[in-house]
Amino acid sequence: MSVNSGESKKNVKKTPNDFIFGKVIGEGSYSTVYLAKEVDSSTEYAIKVLEKRHIMRERKTQYVMREKEVLMKLNHPFFIRLFFTFQDTDRLYFVLSYARRGELLDYIHKLSSFDEPCSRWYTAEIIAALDYLHTKGIIHRDLKPENILLNDEMHIQITDFGSAKILKDTKEEEEAPVSGRTNSFVGTAQYVSPEILTSKKAYYSSDLWALGCIVYQLMSGLPPFRGGHEYQIFQKITKLEYEFPDGFNVVAQDLVEKLLVLNPEQRLGCEEMGGFEKLKLHPFYEGIDFDHIHEQKPPPLVPFLPATSTNPENIWSSYRAGFDDARMVEIITQTVITDDERKKRLEEQQQNSKYHKFVEGNLILKQGLVDKRKGLFARKRMLLLTEGPHLYYVDPANQVLKGQIPWSEELRPEAKNFKTFFVHTPNRTYYLEDRESRSQDWVAKISEAWQQYYGNKNKK
Ligand code: ATP
Repeated sequence: MSVNSGESKKNVKKTPNDFIFGKVIGEGSYSTVYLAKEVDSSTEYAIKVLEKRHIMRERKTQYVMREKEVLMKLNHPFFIRLFFTFQDTDRLYFVLSYARRGELLDYIHKLSSFDEPCSRWYTAEIIAALDYLHTKGIIHRDLKPENILLNDEMHIQITDFGSAKILKDTKEEEEAPVSGRTNSFVGTAQYVSPEILTSKKAYYSSDLWALGCIVYQLMSGLPPFRGGHEYQIFQKITKLEYEFPDGFNVVAQDLVEKLLVLNPEQRLGCEEMGGFEKLKLHPFYEGIDFDHIHEQKPPPLVPFLPATSTNPENIWSSYRAGFDDARMVEIITQTVITDDERKKRLEEQQQNSKYHKFVEGNLILKQGLVDKRKGLFARKRMLLLTEGPHLYYVDPANQVLKGQIPWSEELRPEAKNFKTFFVHTPNRTYYLEDRESRSQDWVAKISEAWQQYYGNKNKK
C-alpha cells in the first residue's frame, strides 16, 4: 500500500496563536478536542488539548507520551495524523487530522448493523491498516469501533494509541505486561483478547481478535461477547462462549471463527498462519483490492434488513388495494378526542390496562407486540404510542419499561414491508416488526401523531 507523502513531521514550532479554535469536537478523560483552523493555510485540524496538571495528577504521562510517539511513527491514509505538537506552561497541544464524520460506533448505533458490502469494506480497511501498523512494530491493543473515526470521504482513521505497544524488534511476538490498562476496559471490555485477560500479554494477533469481534458486530448488530457486567464478558471471552444468530452470513461466520481463536498463534492473519496475505485471501474479501482501497469510494452505509419468507424485500406491488382511503378515514375519525372522551378512556385504561403504569398518565393511542430489532437480534416488546407524543417500549414478559423512542420534529416512520417498519430519529433508526404483519397501521398512527403535534407548527 502506498502511503502519504511524509510531510507531517514538520520541524516548525507552532503556537496556539497560529490557530483559530472553534467548537469542541469531543472530550476524553484527559483531553478536550477542538476543531481549529490554521490562520495561514485555512486548513482544518482537530487539536487535542491536554492539561499538564491533570495528566500528572492522574499519572498518565506515559500514556500521553506513548500516544505521541506512535502517532509520530505513522504515515498512512487509514490513521489519524499528527501534524504538529507544541506546548505552553499549562497545556500540551496535538494538532491532528480532522475526522469530520466522527466515530464508526455512531454509524453502528444509527443503523444497528451494516449490510454485507459495507461490513466487507470497512473490515477490509481495518485489515489494510493493521497490516501497516504491525509492519511498523506496533500493536494497537485497544481496537474498537469508537477508536475508528471516519474522514470526509468516509474512509477510516484509526486513533487512540494511548494503550499501544511499540515493539523494539518487529519480529518480537510476546511483550511486556499490559500495565494499567485493565482498569480502562470499563464499558468496552467486549473487544479485549483472551491472552490480555489471562496472561496480561498482548501479541500482534490481539488486534486480529478485535477485528473478529468487529466483523461479527458489523454483520449482526452486537459484539459477540456480551453481558451485564465486565466480569461476565471476561468469562465468556476466556471460554470462547458466543453464538451466531440465525441469518448470519456463512462466509463471514467462517472468517469470524478463524479470527476468534483462543490461541493467538492460530488466528488467521498472524505470522504463524500465513500473515496478512492469507487473511486477505479469505473468500469474504473476494473482489477487494487491498492495495488501492484507500483510493476507492466506500459503498454507501445502508442498513441491513434480513430477508425472510414473511419479510420479502419488495412487496408493494401486491399490497392490498384501497387501503389508503378507507383506512385513513377510519384513522382520522378516531383521532379527534374530546376532553370528556379522553377522561373516560383514561379511566378505562387505568382500570384495565396493565401497561398504564408505564405511560406516565398519557392516553395510549395504539399498542401492540413488536420485535425490536438490532441487526440480526430481535427482542419482543410491547410498543405503546401515547399522547404527548411518546413511544414507550416495555419488556412484556418481565413487565419492565425498557425505554422510549425519542420524539422530535425529525422523527419519521417508514413502512418497509407488511411486517417491518422503521422509526427514523436523528441518532438512530429503530427497526420494528409488527407481529401481526400490519406495519402500515403503525406508520399511519405514528404519522398522525406527528401531524397532530408538529404538523400545525410547520404551517404557521
Ligand atoms: P480517552 O482519552 O479517555 O481514552 P478518547 O480516546 O475518546 O478518550 P480523545 O482522543 O481525547 O479521547 O477524543 C475525545 C473525542 O474527540 C472522541 O470522542 C473522538 O471521537 C473525538 N476526536 C478525537 N480525535 C479526533 C479527530 N482527529 N477528529 C475528529 N474527532 C476526534
